[in-house]
Amino acid sequence: MSTFLNDKIKNLTPYVPGEQPKERKFIKLNTNESPFPPSSLAISLANEELSKVNLYPDPDCKDLILEIANAVKVKPQNVIVSNGSDEVLNFAFISYCDDNNPAVFPDITYGFYKVFAGVNGVPYKEIPLNSDFTISASDYINSKGVIFIANPNAPTGINMPISEIEKIVASNPNRVVVIDEAYVDFGGESAIPLISKYDNLLVTQTCSKSRSMAGARLGFGVASEKIIQDLNTVKYSTNPYNVNRVTSALGIGALRDKKYFEDNCAEIIKNREFLTQEIIKLGFTATCSRANFVFIKHESVSGKELYLKLKDKGVLVRHFDKERISNYLRITVGSFEETLALITALKEILGE
Ligand code: PMP
Repeated sequence: MSTFLNDKIKNLTPYVPGEQPKERKFIKLNTNESPFPPSSLAISLANEELSKVNLYPDPDCKDLILEIANAVKVKPQNVIVSNGSDEVLNFAFISYCDDNNPAVFPDITYGFYKVFAGVNGVPYKEIPLNSDFTISASDYINSKGVIFIANPNAPTGINMPISEIEKIVASNPNRVVVIDEAYVDFGGESAIPLISKYDNLLVTQTCSKSRSMAGARLGFGVASEKIIQDLNTVKYSTNPYNVNRVTSALGIGALRDKKYFEDNCAEIIKNREFLTQEIIKLGFTATCSRANFVFIKHESVSGKELYLKLKDKGVLVRHFDKERISNYLRITVGSFEETLALITALKEILGE
């Protein structure tokens, strides 16, 4: 750390992304990426853009926004695109949180929310999940802050019914409620239809998981026109060209190739259900995940030990050294072959 660093950043604990080791080839089930390549249509559209990268991209991302608006059945004025959904989440922290409007989110959820609060110097309040890791809507009714809820939640994968989300949004008409739907395409239910009814709702989604674009960084927010204007004020004050040409073309292709997207989501859901059944036979309990990962705990072997032994066998999963969930593993649902390899590795470890 240099001596020049300001106090706000000096005391910041940055987000720690999942490991991306290069020294050995792992079966990588630790960062909820898709095991499938991007759609071939996306790749061909992106290839056409490569020779044009001497020119800035369209800062308004009109074509991409139109494609997203069609896909999620809203008007283009209701959409903003971002460099991964992390960026639009950060825009929401910048726009709506301050000393009088703290961020409010569950104690067990996406770890980046705390970091966004820190980097923006705004207070936050964590609300404990129920003992079964579900979220009680009643904890967020008439809230004193800006609510951030991942639905399905991470790392539990548990989905909150839309009727409960609506109660939260309806009871906080003077605050923005952000619903982070990074995993919604794997069996969740989107809150996007509610944006026509509530002007305080912001829904964020990503192309990182279900559309195989984690490496290209494309996310988006859907909300009332006024919220989108707010977020655009931040975008045009930080990085007007936040989505590059190649990513934009990939996104257009990925959104047009609906069948590829739907087939991939269906395959992940099938593998998730198969994996869950198989690991329960091995003495694990699993939360009811509607995401592209499972969240599991073994009856006798600790999460840390399983994580280390799996790593030793070339299978990388995510373990969180955090109270309440330190005995759990979050394991991304991969291809069928990866799923079989994971089950074999677990059987070997538990049989040792
Ligand atoms: N929300 C949740 C709950 C996530 O797990 C992630 C992925 N780490 C994100 C948002 C951000 O994903 P991205 O920036 O790749 O869109």
